[in-house]
Amino acid sequence: MGTWNRYFCRKCPYETFVSVGNDVGMAAATSTVRCYDCKEIKDVVTTEEPWLAMDKGWVPTEFYCDKSKAHRTELWNHPRKCPKCDRSMIVDKDFSPVMWD
Ligand SMILES: [Zn+2]
Ligand SMILES: [Zn+2]
Repeated sequence: MGTWNRYFCRKCPYETFVSVGNDVGMAAATSTVRCYDCKEIKDVVTTEEPWLAMDKGWVPTEFYCDKSKAHRTELWNHPRKCPKCDRSMIVDKDFSPVMWD
């Protein structure tokens, strides 16, 4: 079961809908990453063997931007910075998470 949350930037109009941290669905597991080349926060597939990701100690090591494998990405963890202006982004508490699975 995965959920999306809405995050927005305090300083610029950027907003994004992503799952939070590592998410495991039926067909794949995703993680939220920041791509420095696209300047976007996005969910990317980290494994198509989601049972691997059920393991608590599992950390995704192979993930790529969906635009290009050459893009520089990193897991989007605290502090959650805006990819456009590098300010902190905040979660929209009034937004009800969307079930995607
Ligand atoms: Zn921003
Ligand atoms: Zn990219």
